[in-house]
Amino acid sequence: MSDLYERHRAVIPDWVALYYRQPVEITHGEGRHVWDADGNRYLDFFGGILTTMTAHALPEVTKAVSEQAGRIIHSSTLYLNRPMVELAERIAALSGIPDARVFFTTSGTEANDTALLLATAYRRSGQVLAMRNSYHGRSFSTVSITGNRSWSPTTLSPVQTLYVHGGVRTRGPYAGLSDAQFTEACVADLEDLLGHTHDVAALIAEPIQGVGGFTSPPDGLYAAFREVLDRHGILWIADEVQTGWGRTGEHFWGWQAHAQNGPPDILTFAKGIGNGMSLGGVVARAEVMNCIDANSISTFGGSPVTAAAGLANLSYLLEHDLQGNARRVGGLLIERLRAITAGIPGVREVRGRGLMIGIELVRPGTDEASPEAAAAVLEAARAGGLLIGKGGGHNTSVLRIAPPMSLTVAEAEEGASILERTLRSL
Ligand code: PMP
Repeated sequence: MSDLYERHRAVIPDWVALYYRQPVEITHGEGRHVWDADGNRYLDFFGGILTTMTAHALPEVTKAVSEQAGRIIHSSTLYLNRPMVELAERIAALSGIPDARVFFTTSGTEANDTALLLATAYRRSGQVLAMRNSYHGRSFSTVSITGNRSWSPTTLSPVQTLYVHGGVRTRGPYAGLSDAQFTEACVADLEDLLGHTHDVAALIAEPIQGVGGFTSPPDGLYAAFREVLDRHGILWIADEVQTGWGRTGEHFWGWQAHAQNGPPDILTFAKGIGNGMSLGGVVARAEVMNCIDANSISTFGGSPVTAAAGLANLSYLLEHDLQGNARRVGGLLIERLRAITAGIPGVREVRGRGLMIGIELVRPGTDEASPEAAAAVLEAARAGGLLIGKGGGHNTSVLRIAPPMSLTVAEAEEGASILERTLRSL
């Protein structure tokens, strides 16, 4: 590595997180691989959730972006924008939300911020329910609905937030309960909370917590919540920033595992939809989306170039059935990881759905989170040619695996073997 790290430290804020003792400078990529500035090649088991939903340097996306950039790079507002309208039509049809309207943003943070704006305006209330251990963004409003306090640098936001149990299944007061008992306990917690307050605008939740360590509630939990919310007129916001577009294999959206009482009122998306271009957005039925009585614009959200990337990426994803690929290859990978970690002390759990897989590490012989083991595995995997992520509550002790959704079986095997060597060497 060059002196780039020192230059970064001298000019970029200290609170911008970087992985690795000697951070990696990624210079190019192809398919499921990336290369660093020293020419090292890595299998990318994490970029899929960050940016690269389908594949690195996907020719279809590169062509769409460069053709659109060669024609016009312009604003997404004040003038008609064909790629944006086309992408909105496709997302509205896929969303499952009736009479859907789509508003594009440049990030997940901005998408959730917009969802808060809509829900609080619609309900005329600044009080919101969020899940413990959640992550929803870095802005002044979204840090206040982020239950994971290590990612909430201020408590001064004006949004009033109450936290609900249910996002984490295997730790906390309801660990060890059956699906039905867990759901019942969380619904009782929600009812109790609502008995002590009034005028709540919305509940926001990630169907599977991402930054929180890929933790899933039992299927149907949010449908059970929905029954309670509906009685109070409270909106349900599904943050699909990590779970959308088929990554879980089973469904196109994470909320579909909780669909018994209908779709969410508001759905947010971002990250890989532009396969790396900064594109996010909000979907809501017209009544909710159009409840604000003033202009509100975004200069860049859904600009012709990012929308062209989103269209090309979505077409590729659907034409190549990458949701099916996530189900098949992700299923094999989870099985393989369970098998190789079975005898390894310090591995508490391998969990996940599709290509969203978490390995929770503990100090051997205890149930205590082991952030030191997670950090060591990250370093060793990198040395072995594999990039993974980490997450999970205050103590980031969960290894996170979320490759581009075009991952092949051979690549899944290769990554699993590197992880096996790494975990055994601990
Ligand atoms: N919601 C979820 C579930 C996320 O995981 C993230 C990003 N980690 C965000 C929102 C914020 O997205 P962005 O970083 O694009 O602002």
